[in-house]
Amino acid sequence: MAKVIIVTGVSRGIGRSIVETIFKLSPETVVYGIARSEAPLQELKAAYGDNFHYVVGDITDASKLEQLTQTAISQHGKIDSVVANAGVLEPVEKIHNADIDAWKKLYDINLFSIVSLIKVTLPYVSKTNGNYVFVSSDASTMYFSNWGAYGSSKAALNHLALTVANEEKSVKCLAVAPGIVDTSMQVNIRENVGANMSKEHHEMFKDLKASNKLLDSNVPATVYSKLALNGIPEAINGTYISYDAPELRDYQI
Ligand code: NAP
Repeated sequence: MAKVIIVTGVSRGIGRSIVETIFKLSPETVVYGIARSEAPLQELKAAYGDNFHYVVGDITDASKLEQLTQTAISQHGKIDSVVANAGVLEPVEKIHNADIDAWKKLYDINLFSIVSLIKVTLPYVSKTNGNYVFVSSDASTMYFSNWGAYGSSKAALNHLALTVANEEKSVKCLAVAPGIVDTSMQVNIRENVGANMSKEHHEMFKDLKASNKLLDSNVPATVYSKLALNGIPEAINGTYISYDAPELRDYQI
């Protein structure tokens, strides 16, 4: 029977690549996506027809997550996997200048929306012994200049994977860092928020682009897609891992 998979942040970047890769690997799969920009969602709908469904909205709006989940259940009766991909980087600022409201807004997107998504989908994902795959970041365990809000939210996300895996034995959960990927998040670093980082770190990101070392989004998207389609290996359930780790050899491009 075809899998039913929820993916967040599917309008561009890694999330859009995850949708495209899922259909490349398994054309019969049904994907439910969410993002705020409608035009790219319409493009995906035009490309994949009845296999792709979407909700336009902000993932911090619990009613949109409920709508996404209940539409999947009413139309297809089950949810096999959830890929929590949507995330934001800003505010980028030194801790002594921390804008607390901006940190809270980032946490609403990068962490609390995922707690809400788990709460609303768990009754269904547990029935299929399904998977929660979180898009984490190297910044969850490494220092990048003035990324305190972002890095700490991704560290919390890693812990959320540990929590879900230990408390909910009927599902598996994994946080996976995607590497440094050629998306609009990187454009934003090079052209905007990089100005708030140390010169050294800003230059590092610009050099990665100039030397063609940013990853194509297909590379991590293949790992996330195969985890959602084939399931998280028991041996790494609840952990944080990089997309290129040897434990994920069978999931890589
Ligand atoms: P991106 O190109 O900026 O895409 C972000 C996606 O998230 C978009 O589809 C955006 O859609 C969606 N999104 C953001 N805020 C949202 C909200 N409040 N509600 C609904 N959707 C929202 O970034 P990306 O590089 O693909 O990043 C995807 C994930 O990878 C993020 O979690 C990021 O932290 C992580 N990551 C990226 C890199 C990298 O080098 N690119 C490295 C490590 C981790 P709309 O704007 O249309 O809503």
